[in-house]
Amino acid sequence: MIEKYDHQEGYCRMLGHFLIFRYCRSVNKGLPCNRVLDCWFQTFPVEKFIAENYSPEDHKKIFEPPKTKVLSLAEILEQAQKRLQENE
Ligand code: SF4
Repeated sequence: MIEKYDHQEGYCRMLGHFLIFRYCRSVNKGLPCNRVLDCWFQTFPVEKFIAENYSPEDHKKIFEPPKTKVLSLAEILEQAQKRLQENE
């Protein structure tokens, strides 16, 4: 059951306050935060929880390193150039 640990409470070092696990498991476009293993391993078997509730594709999305702003900007520029070329 994916809601099993939703009401576990922990301190978020990223946000600087306490929150419940339900937030952590859905904050990343409906998937868990990429720090979920580090933050929750002392509270409950979070690795097992992730293995049981998410597909291998989800695991990739959850744990892929966040894109840097420079890379994101480069991608936006590339897409804009493509759109311009398509409209020429
Ligand atoms: S998993 Fe993410 S959102 Fe949740 S406490 Fe850790 S850093 Fe904060």
